[in-house]
Amino acid sequence: MGAFVGRGRLNSTREGLPLALKRTVKNAGLLLLRRCGIYRLAASSARRTSRLLILGFHGISLADEHEWNPGLYITAAQLRQRMELLRSWEANVLPLEEALERLTSRSLPPRSAVITFDDGFVDFAAQAAPILREFRYPATLYLTTHYCSHRAPVFNLAVSYVLWKSGAAEADLHPLGVPLRLRWSNDQERQASVRTLLEYCEQRQMSTADRNEIAAGLAARLGVDYAGILDRRLLQILAPAQVSELSRAGIDIQLHTHRHRVPLDRQLFLREIEDNRERIREMTGRRAAHFCYPSGVHAAEFLPWLSEAGIESAVTCEMGAAGPRSHRLLLPRVLDQTGVSSLDFEAWLCGVRV
Ligand SMILES: [Zn+2]
Repeated sequence: MGAFVGRGRLNSTREGLPLALKRTVKNAGLLLLRRCGIYRLAASSARRTSRLLILGFHGISLADEHEWNPGLYITAAQLRQRMELLRSWEANVLPLEEALERLTSRSLPPRSAVITFDDGFVDFAAQAAPILREFRYPATLYLTTHYCSHRAPVFNLAVSYVLWKSGAAEADLHPLGVPLRLRWSNDQERQASVRTLLEYCEQRQMSTADRNEIAAGLAARLGVDYAGILDRRLLQILAPAQVSELSRAGIDIQLHTHRHRVPLDRQLFLREIEDNRERIREMTGRRAAHFCYPSGVHAAEFLPWLSEAGIESAVTCEMGAAGPRSHRLLLPRVLDQTGVSSLDFEAWLCGVRV
């Protein structure tokens, strides 16, 4: 099972001054452009019309996940505010397939956009779907399927969340039968501790159930309420019945590999796609043909393998708007995360940034 990681550069709410200062200066510049009418001019320009903005979201917090991982989670309020910006700028939000056809035939409407979500967390059904329905916007959900049949949080995320939630700086795992003592004093070290434990479990090819037991034991040792995490279904992937229901309600379910990983071996890579596609077919009755690289990891050798698997498009986590000449298997997106200002989001939406 590959690790889930956000692709954002914001890994911490505790930012150093230079970054905060840089952001203030950048926002002041964007504000000036907006006040001078540059946003409005760009929004109706031929350059913007020729481009497709593929927006990428991950999780929408059920509790405080955005405080723990601001690169991976945003609040429902932020998602709603983004939808309001799309509406107020009269963006044309299209289904992925139609948008790609019109990108190819150079017939995109002004301010075109596609809304995508990665992974398929339970919070998509609880938080994002009602907002999308309210705005009547179509969306594509790139679903990783291994955890669909497990009612446990994604292991590496659960461990990271538990360590953060505990406020502790070390954990001795020997009483859990794991010969590790983890220590961390900042976000980077905490992530390194998570990787150490994940590698330990992967080397032993531990089952999802065994990993979940370790996460629960770790939480108990650190005084974190794991039953509460399970009850609220934090960091879990959608159950099959939920996927079926979302698909029936018009959400476009597409590929994100079965185990959230892209092996550098052709056969294993193709198996990831086929396992993922088969599970999605069982849940939706449809054959998925659009792909999202897990954690944004892409390599030149994947392109012929994706073609061989009949993949029609693939999105990355490279920031940018797609143009008519963008490679269909390396499409850029604009990823939203906590800390991205409205001005910045609007700059992408209007084509001030491309
Ligand atoms: Zn992912």
